[in-house]
Order: sequence, then C-alpha cells, then structure tokens
Amino acid sequence: MIDVHCHIHDEVFDNDREEVISRAKEKGVKHIIISAIKPEEVSKALNIVNSFKEYMSLTIGHDPVIVSDEVFEEQLKNVKKYLDIIVGIGEAGLDYYFVRDHGERDRQRRIFALWINVAKELDLPLVIHSRSAGKYAIEILLEQKYFNVVMHAYDGSVGWAIEAAKHGVYFSIPPSVIFSIQKQKLVRKLPLENLLLETDSPVLSPIRGERNEPANIVYSAMKIAEIKNISLSKVIDATIENTLDVFKKLKLQI
Ligand SMILES: [Zn+2]
Repeated sequence: MIDVHCHIHDEVFDNDREEVISRAKEKGVKHIIISAIKPEEVSKALNIVNSFKEYMSLTIGHDPVIVSDEVFEEQLKNVKKYLDIIVGIGEAGLDYYFVRDHGERDRQRRIFALWINVAKELDLPLVIHSRSAGKYAIEILLEQKYFNVVMHAYDGSVGWAIEAAKHGVYFSIPPSVIFSIQKQKLVRKLPLENLLLETDSPVLSPIRGERNEPANIVYSAMKIAEIKNISLSKVIDATIENTLDVFKKLKLQI
C-alpha cells in the first residue's frame, strides 16, 4: 500500500518517528508521500524525506486556512527550488470550515486558482484539500479544466465527486472511512479506478480523536474491500497502480 498523503514531519511524531515508520513497514506500507504546507515546515520535511530515502516522497503546497499571498509566494519559491525532489503540488485548496468570512473565501478561491495554474505549468499532480467546500473546489477544477488531481479526504457530496471522477480525478480515502457514512458512500459510488489510499496522519484516525499513523492505512484498504465486496489484494493492486498513474515522478523514486 502507498500512503499518498500524510504529515509525518508533524511535531507529534518527533519522539517516535522511527517506530511509526517501522510499524508502517510491518503493515505493508511500501511508500509514504508527505505534504509540507507551510514555509516553516519545508526544511524539516525535506530532512525527513532525505533520511528515509526511497521510502518517502514530498509534495509542497499551501495550507488553505492561511489565506495569504506572501505564503503563496514563499511556497511557490520552495516548489521551484525543490522541483527535482517533489512528486506533486499540495495540499492546496479551500477550507470553508475554518474560513467563514466571504471576503476571505474569495481570496482563498483566487489563491487556489493560482495553485492550479502552477500545477498546470509544471505538469504536476495537485493534492486538494476541500473541507466543507468540495463542490466549490470541483467547480473551479471544471472551470480551469485541470484534472491531474487527488481530492484528499473529500467531505463533499458524492454527486460532485462522480462528476469529477468522470474527468479522471482521484479520491484518496483515509482510515476515518471506518466510521464516516459520507466516505463509505463515496467508496460505494466511485469506481475503484478513481481511488487511492491516504492516512492524513496525524489526523483522520480510524478511532476518533486518536493520533493517526501510516500503518492505519490498512483500515482504508479493508473497508474499501468490504464495501466493494472484492479482495484486499485487489484493492491494494488497484490503488498502487492508480497512485503510480497520477504521481508519475513517483515511479522513478520507488
Ligand atoms: Zn493533510
């Protein structure tokens, strides 16, 4: 299995990162993609990726809760500086859960559109955060016609997800699918060809409120197998194939 999106550089792993990685390996996690979404995170994330070479890759993006042109500029600089290393852009996107003000949401949409342009220009996949804003994020993708995309931990309506999937958009499924009715519905309605596995560690654990870690990705895979009534190995094979299809540079790294 490949964990396409997590934050293993987060300080909550500072005391036991090695053990967390060992547990992931024991559970059959073959590769992990981490996302650095704030300028101050980038060098730490890079160090960690370098110390687990061939096991970890990096995407650089922009936490949408920080609605800031300065952060956009800084992260764009980091994307260009580390272009040889990164396998994608992200996460970037919209967060209407934390950002309620309409003016701020307008600015968020504008910055998101800028990130789509960056991904387009660099021909890299874009990992999208769309908390309480799934419909709006997909609308922008349809407008901009960019579908080299992973919708991560999508919490929006299944109808919009089906529309995006028709254009080849991928959806990564976190371990919270164990209890989330919305995510279970998403898995039921989307074809296996559009699904990936993620943990979003340290959040979205299979047990509410607990720290999540990449080893838990097996819960995503098992739940998908159960819902689609197929074998676990079929889920694993398909999601690995899908991952390598969207993260083209990953093929060279693993
Ligand atoms: Zn994330």
